[in-house]
Amino acid sequence: MCVEIESIAKTRILLVEDSSVEAKTAKHSLERAGYDVEWVKDGKTAIKIAKTKPIDVILLDLVLPDISGREVCRYLRKSRNTNGIPIIMLTVRDKVIDRVAGLAAGADDYLPKPYSDRELNARIYACLRTKELRDGLQEKNKQLAEMFEEAKKLATTDPLTGLFNRRHCEAVIEYEFRRAARYKSPLSCFILDIDHFKTVNDKYGHRAGDTVLVEIAQILKGVIRAVDTVARWGGEEFLLVLPQTGNEGAMVLAQKLLNKVSGHTFSEVPDRRLTVSIGIAGIPSLSIDTGEKLVNAADRAMYKAKRRGRNMAMNVQEGMR
Ligand code: GH3
Ligand code: MG
Ligand code: MG
Ligand code: MG
Repeated sequence: MCVEIESIAKTRILLVEDSSVEAKTAKHSLERAGYDVEWVKDGKTAIKIAKTKPIDVILLDLVLPDISGREVCRYLRKSRNTNGIPIIMLTVRDKVIDRVAGLAAGADDYLPKPYSDRELNARIYACLRTKELRDGLQEKNKQLAEMFEEAKKLATTDPLTGLFNRRHCEAVIEYEFRRAARYKSPLSCFILDIDHFKTVNDKYGHRAGDTVLVEIAQILKGVIRAVDTVARWGGEEFLLVLPQTGNEGAMVLAQKLLNKVSGHTFSEVPDRRLTVSIGIAGIPSLSIDTGEKLVNAADRAMYKAKRRGRNMAMNVQEGMR
C-alpha cells in the first residue's frame, strides 16, 4: 500500500512544540514537504485541536509548559475520536527509559532531537501507512460484522412477513419450555391458521394472498408483548410463544386476536373479511413434557377449532371457548 503524493499534500500535521525556534524550523521544513501544519505551544491546546479538527499525524514534544507530552498522549489514546491519530514523540531526551515511557503512553513512534528532515518525513510516511492499514482493517471488520448480522437475520427471518421463521421459532420454543419448566412458570403456545385461505388465492391471486399474510403478521406483531415470540410456522400458519401466560391470559389474548383479524379490512380483499382459527396449548400440563408436544397439542386444538366452525380459539384440554 502506498500513500499517494496527493494525499501527502493534504495531510494535516499538528505540531506541539513550545520552543519557537525549533517549531519554526520544523514547520517550515514540513510545509516545504507539502504538509498542512498547525502549530501549538502547549498540551491543553493540542488536545483541544486534536478533538475538534481533522488531524492526520501529531508531532508531540515530550517536555511542554503545562502538561507533559506523555499526559497528552495518554489522554488522546483514551478519547474515542482521537485514539486513532498517529503520534510521534519528539524530545532531546534519548534515554531508553524515556523512549519506552513515550511508547507506553501510546505514542506510535519516537524521534530524538535533533532530527533530520528526511528522517522525520520517513517516520510520518510510515505512520500514515500504518494508519491507512489500520483504517482499512477496521473498515473490513465493520463490513464483516454487518455481513454476519445480515446472515444471522436471513437465517432466522421469514422474508415475506419479516417474522421469525420456523427454524428459529423451534429454538425459541425449546428455550422457553425449559425455562418455564425449571421456574414452574406458565407458558402458552398458539397455532393460528387462516380460514379458507385457499379461496383468497383462488379468487384474488397469489399476490393478494401474500398481502394477507403480511397484514396478519402486522396484526400479530401489534398485539403481542415484547417477551412473546411470533413466527411464520408454515404457509398460512403462525405460531405464538407466550411466556408467563396461563390459560386465562391466553384466552383473553386469543379473543383479542380473533376480533382484530375479523375486524380488519384486508387491502387486497375488499369485498370480504377474513378470520383465523386458533389452537392453544399450555403448561403446566400433565401430558406435555417437551416443547414439541406443546406445539402438537396446539396444532390438534387448532384443527378442533376448524371442525367446530372456524373463527374461534380452542384449548386442547378444556374444549371450546
Ligand atoms: P382452512 O380454513 O381449513 O384452513 O382452509 P384453507 O383454505 O386455509 O386451508 P388449505 O390448507 O386448504 O390451504 C392453505 C393454502 O395456503 C394453500 C396454499 O396455496 C396457501 N399458501 C401457503 N403458503 C402461501 C404463501 O406463501 N402465499 C400464498 N399466497 N399462499 C400460500
Ligand atoms: Mg519542549
Ligand atoms: Mg393450514
Ligand atoms: Mg387455512
